[in-house]
Amino acid sequence: TATAETRKFEAEVAQVLHLVTHSLYSHKEIFLRELISNASDACDKLRFESIANPDLLAGDSELHIDVSWDKAARTVTIRDTGIGMTRDDVVANIGTIASSGTRRFLEAMSGEQKADARLIGQFGVGFYSAFVVADRVTVLTRHAGASPESGVKWESDGRGEYSLEDVTLPERGTTVVLHLKADEDEFLDGWKLRSLVTKYSDHVSFPIRMPKDARAPAEGEDAPADAAPEWETANDASALWTKSKSDISDADYQNFYKALGHDFNDAAAWTHNRVEGSQSFTTLLYLPSQPPFDLMMGGRDERKGLKLYIKRVFVMDAAEELLPNYLRFVRGVVDADDLPLNVSRELLQHNRQLDRIKGACVKRVLDLIEKLARDEPEKFTAFYKAFGNTLKEGIVEDATNRERIAQLLRFASTKGDGAAQTVSLDDYVGRMPVGQDTIWYITADGHKAAAGSPQLEAFRAKDIEVLLMFDRIDEWMLGSLHEYAGKPMKNVAKGELPLDEADKAKQAEAATAAAPLVERIKRLLGDRVGDVRVSARLTDSPSCLALADYEMAPHLARLLREAGQ
Ligand code: ADP
Ligand code: MG
Repeated sequence: TATAETRKFEAEVAQVLHLVTHSLYSHKEIFLRELISNASDACDKLRFESIANPDLLAGDSELHIDVSWDKAARTVTIRDTGIGMTRDDVVANIGTIASSGTRRFLEAMSGEQKADARLIGQFGVGFYSAFVVADRVTVLTRHAGASPESGVKWESDGRGEYSLEDVTLPERGTTVVLHLKADEDEFLDGWKLRSLVTKYSDHVSFPIRMPKDARAPAEGEDAPADAAPEWETANDASALWTKSKSDISDADYQNFYKALGHDFNDAAAWTHNRVEGSQSFTTLLYLPSQPPFDLMMGGRDERKGLKLYIKRVFVMDAAEELLPNYLRFVRGVVDADDLPLNVSRELLQHNRQLDRIKGACVKRVLDLIEKLARDEPEKFTAFYKAFGNTLKEGIVEDATNRERIAQLLRFASTKGDGAAQTVSLDDYVGRMPVGQDTIWYITADGHKAAAGSPQLEAFRAKDIEVLLMFDRIDEWMLGSLHEYAGKPMKNVAKGELPLDEADKAKQAEAATAAAPLVERIKRLLGDRVGDVRVSARLTDSPSCLALADYEMAPHLARLLREAGQ
């Protein structure tokens, strides 16, 4: 039968492979984490699907992952008893790269600010890391529920082509065999492999088994290679979030985060809670310390954010259902006891119980950020640098928590430290002199433009602090932030300056004296301006443009014009 064929990789796959092999050379070991992560995903999928269809587990209800090696054949093998793939699955998942992740990965790796290749798993192309250490990769796979004859063998040297063949496989699941490159012998070592499993995959919730003698052989002794292996579990294999906090070390939390987020940086902070009651659930939520690449590129990574478990069974990645968009940088796990296991994404979107969980998640995350701001200012500064602008979206998006979010924001200010965004609204309000009732700010498209604006002269002269807002998102955000702590927030380019009685008299006098001049300017400018007025805004400059209360800030108007609006 014509079951064997050779196909070409799509051009983009070839590019990914090239990039991966040339940028991961100093972090080769990532391949093991990525392949174990895929094996774990496959076990998760089978466990979930077998709830509705127990026959899928036929004959073998044990879900596990085996890691082994063969010195003579120079191979490392990762095998799982998970969901497996059909021939079509194989073509779709690892032959073609139809996934949007491919393009995003290529962009991120060649962009101005290059992504670290170790983030490969965040882009959904982790499988290809196999070719960092292997010059040939064989995948043997059989979908759960399919007959032994419907096995598939996929093989490639990672250059331009791959081959496909129908094979008979006695067991379901997937086996990935890495034929190591000539200089990758270090991975033919049980001790090395075991240490990588512990380092990267300790908290995978399925047993990762290794041959029993996966320990360092004694001096001058070879590990027994040919005996049929006796397996032992090499990882912790428990669902970390189900343990009690006192049994979990910081290192455990960090390792779990790294595996979960395909990140290599530590998390900035986390919060782990169990809610008992009419509705019980556990949340373990992390703030990353670096933005995931996807976020920086303006996208939303739905897949790798928050995992929803129901009674310990992984159900789906549900970042969108569990957290509002402005908290999309949060990573973690939510495990609910009371949701039906057959819940669908559609159902989740209109589920009362889930609304409660979502509310709890938002509260936990805001608590966590507040705590970071209060107790660990340095970490908070780094966090804010990475995610501050994302947080600002919450001012518009989340009216309920607007004040809490506003409290977390930091700005540059005329009384702050140059362009550094370190002044909170509480700092500002705390130093408002008696008699000042307004929070003043200026918007511009850069710190220089804001700090150098003539609009600030009168405020400087009167020693009134002005917040300098120059992030792209600020103008939009301010459209929803009209007051803080009961004080109105106003743009210095709009509205009237605060004047005392003496000022008012002086201004009236100046206005009378300048009346003929004003008339003349009005005549000259005609309808190019709305009005010409004597103002108390300026102390040094002769004139400036001001806005009526209803008008748009000039740089925003310019932005909109540029965008063709
Ligand atoms: P991601 O895991 O983020 O989807 P990968 O490149 O790691 O990206 O894997 C691509 C796809 O290949 C997976 O989504 C899955 O469909 C399939 N796959 C990879 N490994 C396995 C496996 N061990 N069992 C079943 N499917 C797998
Ligand atoms: Mg993967």
